[in-house]
Amino acid sequence: METIECDVVVVGAGPAGLTAAYTLARSEPTIRVAVLEARSRVGGRTWNGRVLDDDGVAHFIEIGGQWISPDQSRLISLVDELGLETFARHRTGDAVYLAPDGTRHVYREDMPVSAATQAEMDRLIGLMDELAAEVGADAPWAAARARELDTIPFRDWLGRHSDDQEAIDNVSIYVASGMLTKPSYAFSALQAALMAASAGSFSHLVDEDFILDRRVVGGMQSVSRRLADEVGGLGGRIVLDTPVRRIDWHEVDPATEDAPNGIAADVRNGVADDGAPGTVTVHSDRAVVHARTVILAVPPNLYSRIQFVPPLPREQQIAHQHISMGLVIKIHAVYATPFWREEGLSGTAFGGGRLVQEVYDNTNYGRNDTGGEDGVEDSYGTLVGFISDHYAEQMWALPPAERRHRILAAIADYLGPKALQPIAFYLSDMAAEEWTRGAYATSYDLGGLHRWGHLQNRPTGPIHYACSDIASQGYQHVDGAVRQGEAAALAVLEHRDGANHPGAPAGIGAPS
Ligand SMILES: Cc1cc2nc3c(=O)[nH]c(=O)nc-3n(C[C@H](O)[C@H](O)[C@H](O)COP(=O)(O)OP(=O)(O)OC[C@H]3O[C@@H](n4cnc5c(N)ncnc54)[C@H](O)[C@@H]3O)c2cc1C
Repeated sequence: METIECDVVVVGAGPAGLTAAYTLARSEPTIRVAVLEARSRVGGRTWNGRVLDDDGVAHFIEIGGQWISPDQSRLISLVDELGLETFARHRTGDAVYLAPDGTRHVYREDMPVSAATQAEMDRLIGLMDELAAEVGADAPWAAARARELDTIPFRDWLGRHSDDQEAIDNVSIYVASGMLTKPSYAFSALQAALMAASAGSFSHLVDEDFILDRRVVGGMQSVSRRLADEVGGLGGRIVLDTPVRRIDWHEVDPATEDAPNGIAADVRNGVADDGAPGTVTVHSDRAVVHARTVILAVPPNLYSRIQFVPPLPREQQIAHQHISMGLVIKIHAVYATPFWREEGLSGTAFGGGRLVQEVYDNTNYGRNDTGGEDGVEDSYGTLVGFISDHYAEQMWALPPAERRHRILAAIADYLGPKALQPIAFYLSDMAAEEWTRGAYATSYDLGGLHRWGHLQNRPTGPIHYACSDIASQGYQHVDGAVRQGEAAALAVLEHRDGANHPGAPAGIGAPS
């Protein structure tokens, strides 16, 4: 077991934790930073993968997060700073829409729904835009109508404003199955408004050309890999394969003991000086780290995997139980060629309420982990699709061959029978990953956001929190993780040396 002495220990080497370590190391050369990561790789929910075809050829896939939208300015500037390039998603050609009765429509501009349904969708989108603007992304729990909006399921909120089921299904998809990856009855209208506000507006979520705009050449995990290289180059330590099991973070005051009931001294009512450095020991499988401050950069659903000594204050202990991962399967199907393009199709396809709710052309570009050439598109065609919440549960319950057939048949409903014959096929299974346990990210249960949201970014003693799942702008996205990592690092520096670090960005790009 290695012992490491440092100033700041970061738990989790995803984009949030590594941005925090990078920001600290760059801002303050004397600061000693260590990052402890449970997995044998960096990147967390961003993950460059490969799938073998029948001839044993490896094809590049992004098992986790991949797309960047134009509003994600922190991530965009970081990608640039790290010397990485991006490329646009292929979108030339017609899209396909499957109506609730199964009728297939090929279209170019507006979704081919009836004029009445289109008007109803436009109205609902307008209402959601207003709600997002009213609630905002920074502190939705403090909005005037926070309680009212947080105690109504998003499905019911939509139902109160429309009786056109097709319009409701099509609008619902952008937040429910498309983003939070939970059924629309399982989260509130306030949570939906936060999701929209964090992307700038609900209209942004609706516009796939905006929200799914670009990818990183070489894969999104390259951002974390480069960050890890930078941190190492600046003298930081990154230890892999070392899950953090326990954090000793505070000395208890013996006077808080409840002797008559045999309850040991604790910090149930919180501690003074939240955010200030303290004395911390972090126990992981391969290293024990002594530090002044911790940045806990893991998804909130995993906080309870760590033993805190003493146990966290009561408000954190209860709040952390009200935030959970969604569930989505990301489908990767590789074909000898992008056959859909030959038929004038872009590869983009939608169907609210269908098994595979959305499909996109995900053909690779440039050099990546399986080869490729700079500036050249892959000759193989790759489709990506998504199966959310209830449908994902149904699919995992099936035998593999039947699962594969059902999924490919659902894609063929959009793009024709050639979709049934991929040369390689892979399903991202983040729910089975011990150090993630779902996808894409976490959100509060009904009523949880207005009750507990104000706590999510408040440090607990020397423990600071950073994760895309507790971000305002960029919530649930890599951009939010980068913002969170940077904000946590700056908060640590401010507490350490307020005069020198008045909160200015520490050099990963222009202020947002
Ligand atoms: C299938 C999928 C598709 C997605 N698509 C997109 C997309 O297109 N665009 C986008 O912007 N975002 C997307 N996302 C979301 C994006 O990947 C996340 O928002 C982002 O990775 C969050 O970064 P993070 O650092 O906050 O958390 P994570 O990436 O989850 O990193 C947390 C790290 O902490 C580690 N860890 C956990 N517990 C411990 C412990 N006890 N000890 C030590 N280490 C621990 C984990 O192993 C992990 O490496 C997607 C996610 C998934 C799963």
